[in-house]
Amino acid sequence: METRVIETRIHEEAGTNLGAELIRRGELVAFPTETVYGLGANGLDAAAVEKIFEAKGRPNDNPLIMHVSNKNEAKKLWGHIPKTLNALMDAFWPGPLTLIFNKSDRVPDAVTAGLPTVAVRMPQGKTANLLIRKAGVPIAAPSANLSGRPSPTSASHVFRDLNGRIPLILDGGECGFGIESTVLSLVGKPTILRPGAVTKEMIEAVIGPVELSDCLLKPLAEGKAALSPGMKYKHYAPNARVLVVLGEPKEAAKRISELYVQYSLEDLSCEIAATEQTARFYRGKNYTVLGDRNEPLTLCRNLFSALREMDERAEVILAEGVNAEGTGLAFMNRLLRAAGFEIENG
Ligand code: AMP
Ligand code: MG
Repeated sequence: METRVIETRIHEEAGTNLGAELIRRGELVAFPTETVYGLGANGLDAAAVEKIFEAKGRPNDNPLIMHVSNKNEAKKLWGHIPKTLNALMDAFWPGPLTLIFNKSDRVPDAVTAGLPTVAVRMPQGKTANLLIRKAGVPIAAPSANLSGRPSPTSASHVFRDLNGRIPLILDGGECGFGIESTVLSLVGKPTILRPGAVTKEMIEAVIGPVELSDCLLKPLAEGKAALSPGMKYKHYAPNARVLVVLGEPKEAAKRISELYVQYSLEDLSCEIAATEQTARFYRGKNYTVLGDRNEPLTLCRNLFSALREMDERAEVILAEGVNAEGTGLAFMNRLLRAAGFEIENG
């Protein structure tokens, strides 16, 4: 299959028209959102949804998020709408918050992997919004990468993974947030299953106390069922070995420099994922500055693209950990999974 790429900054109408037509015909379309690129199919068509799992090589016990262009469309996907759900839609949509609640009969099992609940979100951004509106159906979409790989934050990442497997990529440039949405379950006590740019504190300001799933920063306990498959042991991972070094910036940088020398002597090529605060410690070594430690969203924005780029050059990636607070939690959640939880202390 030939994969077409259409730049929506230039051809937004034509691109979203073609995309919507493909979606209605039961085909797949990759599209930009403010979080990462999504791989979309008609969310009410089980056969179309199956194609997503095939194209990504995704295990089909892993449910998908339904993307809608307005709140009314979302309401039709849930059985009923508690007050908290309404309040959260009003506060954060469109935006990087996915809400999980009991599903209505309209939602096929293929989307929810047989779960009685469905995850729904309204993305920000004109292309995604136009595509969903024109398609006239909710669009089921996971991230548009091969299963297990870092999520795509540009059309070229999608092309690299899915060229020949899907008919169309809408290229809307780089994603603003660069990591996936916050996933919040409202079944029982409100619980964050995946941290993102919308933080616990921001949600609590709207609905009161929110729990954090207990495996956001550690692997799922043996034998425990995953509430959300992003919780799997290794995920978002490059081919290179990734090692996370925790600790104060200076100590972490010192330990990373030692490891760099050690691995280089073993003839392993290394790359360092650094921060603005520590870059000066790595002169003469291969490093990439992700962003500012005090503004974890800047780290999030560059994490996946940096992992992909470093992966081209290195067998070992040495990355600094940061405080897992605020949006730092989302960063550490992704980084630790990319590393398969391989951690050292600086
Ligand atoms: P991705 O496939 O990268 O877009 O991620 C989608 C995320 O949403 C995964 O972590 C899913 O496990 C999660 N998700 C989707 N639907 C549900 C659901 N009904 N219950 C729990 N998690 C869900
Ligand atoms: Mg994904």
